[in-house]
Amino acid sequence: MAEKAFKYVILGGGVAAGYAAREFANQGVNPGELAIISKESVAPYERPALSKAYLFPKGTARLPGFHVCVGSGGEKLLPEWYTEKGISLIPNTEVVKADLASKTLVSAAGETFKYQILIIATGSTVIRLSDFGVQGADAKNIFYLREIVDADKLVEAIKAKKNGKALVVGGGYIGLELSAALKMNNIDVSMVYPEPWCMPRLFTANLASFYEGYYANKGIKIIKGTVATGFGTNEDMEVMDVKLKDGRVMEADIVVVGVGGRPLTKLFKGQVEEEKGGIKAIFASEQGSSIDEYNYLPYFYSRAFDLSWQFYGDNVGETVFFGDGSPTSTTHKFGSYWIKEGKVVGAFLEGGTPEENKAIAKVARVQPPAQSLDQLATEGLTFACKI
Ligand SMILES: Cc1cc2nc3c(=O)[nH]c(=O)nc-3n(C[C@H](O)[C@H](O)[C@H](O)COP(=O)(O)OP(=O)(O)OC[C@H]3O[C@@H](n4cnc5c(N)ncnc54)[C@H](O)[C@@H]3O)c2cc1C
Repeated sequence: MAEKAFKYVILGGGVAAGYAAREFANQGVNPGELAIISKESVAPYERPALSKAYLFPKGTARLPGFHVCVGSGGEKLLPEWYTEKGISLIPNTEVVKADLASKTLVSAAGETFKYQILIIATGSTVIRLSDFGVQGADAKNIFYLREIVDADKLVEAIKAKKNGKALVVGGGYIGLELSAALKMNNIDVSMVYPEPWCMPRLFTANLASFYEGYYANKGIKIIKGTVATGFGTNEDMEVMDVKLKDGRVMEADIVVVGVGGRPLTKLFKGQVEEEKGGIKAIFASEQGSSIDEYNYLPYFYSRAFDLSWQFYGDNVGETVFFGDGSPTSTTHKFGSYWIKEGKVVGAFLEGGTPEENKAIAKVARVQPPAQSLDQLATEGLTFACKI
């Protein structure tokens, strides 16, 4: 098979690839120099839409509506944009071998791609219950969500199991957003997770208490402190029920599993330095110089029902809760600061206006000193708006 060669190759066609392509274009990449090789069949899109408007019964998002970079308020890069810029978008192509020494990639179909500079943007893959040998975990109607093809299968199941029952395994991002989306589709939703509260890696007990109360008021049943240990099926191998470790058995027509992901680094094992399961360093500078400082402010956001939160910075140290965290309040405006060594290093806000969200982002970037935790709690959002 013919070999293709490019100056730059981005491996992976997700969010990072799309935003990088825009930056390449801004920097004046020449036609023919850049290729994006992607397992997916479509141009890069805003992946977070898959667990939100893609599943909504009304105001449903569909491509080409959410190609990057609309998520950050930027230009929507349609497939034609790549053609106009002379960027080769190579879809439906899974790379199965990467040899960094000879700068060669090989696809599942046997095509060879040579590059001078490679950008690894393979993202993550979901952790599957079958990885842990959970009995019946391969049954039909057990869903994971990472790519648009996964979302399409879930959309079909929601249609097929109208007014049915869903069990959502996992109380993180995916669990919370998908429970909301399923409920909006009139599905009877239960969630199960082992931790004492939802999103434990980010939420404090106070924050989680609001979301759990709010979800309960929407009719979502929350079962904590246990895990799914097996699935029962009918004669068509469709899931019918979920066995929990505490002995309960939950009926379910649809199961959605959101128990985490892991970086897709397999192709590069032994060829790059790794840390905490991810690839450690970004090398690559044509001039031979490295970037002095990588200015990165951690940022997460989520939207479900009429809720919307943003978090900036680090969630380490002591915490202070502020605002009205009652699940029945009409304002839903509250948040939390994280304080380490006398400085505010992280900030979370539910229900913020664009200006207020900018203010908490600034707090996390500037890391102002905190006089006292009591003062922060009393001042709440006013503290951020003064910075
Ligand atoms: C359903 C969902 C909802 C999310 N919602 C939010 C949210 O609300 N807020 C938030 O902050 N973050 C959210 N995230 C996380 C966010 O989407 C990711 O951080 C982001 O997509 C990471 O971008 P990436 O380009 O590194 O990886 P990805 O967007 O995952 O892209 C990786 C690409 O590489 C391709 N690929 C992988 N291996 C190969 C191979 N061997 N050959 C060819 N192609 C390959 C994949 O097919 C994919 O196209 C969500 C994620 C998911 C799955």
